[in-house]
Amino acid sequence: MTTSQTKRCEHCNVLYTYHPSTYGFKPEYNDSRYCQDCDKVIGEALATVPVKFKKKFVPTSDYTREEIISAQEKRCEKLPIHRIMMPLFDLTEPTNQQHNFCEMMKDPISGQRIYYSVTWWSKKPDEVEVCKEIWWDIINDCAAKYQYTPLKN
Ligand SMILES: [Zn+2]
Repeated sequence: MTTSQTKRCEHCNVLYTYHPSTYGFKPEYNDSRYCQDCDKVIGEALATVPVKFKKKFVPTSDYTREEIISAQEKRCEKLPIHRIMMPLFDLTEPTNQQHNFCEMMKDPISGQRIYYSVTWWSKKPDEVEVCKEIWWDIINDCAAKYQYTPLKN
C-alpha cells in the first residue's frame, strides 16, 4: 500500500512528499503537482476568485429505478466483492429503511457518464426519487448551460 510519493514541484522544483490517499486524514497542503509552499500561495491566490460552478444532484427522468439498479447489478457481476451500502433507518420507525443506489450512467445531454442516484423508503416503495449529478451555476442559481467536461489526459 502506497501512502506517500516523492514528487518534484512543477514550479520551484523542490522535492516534496505527496500523500495520494489520505483516508480521511487530509494534510492542509497536499497537491500532486506543487510543493506545500507553492500550494499555499496558489490556495491563497485562488481564495480571492469566487467558485462559479459546483456539482449538485437534481431530480431527473433520464432513467428509472429499475434501469439504475440493473446497470449496477451488471457492473457488480464482474466484481469479486459486492459493495455493501449501509441503509439509513427512520429513527421513529425502525422498519422504515432508506434505499439508495448510485451508479454512473450515460447522460443523454452531454453524452458523458455521470452519477445517477435513486432513493426510496421501504414504507413508500413507489415514491422513488431519481437524481443526476450536474454542474450547477452558482452565480445564476440554475443548471449550468454547458454540462460537458473535457476528460483529463
Ligand atoms: Zn514549489
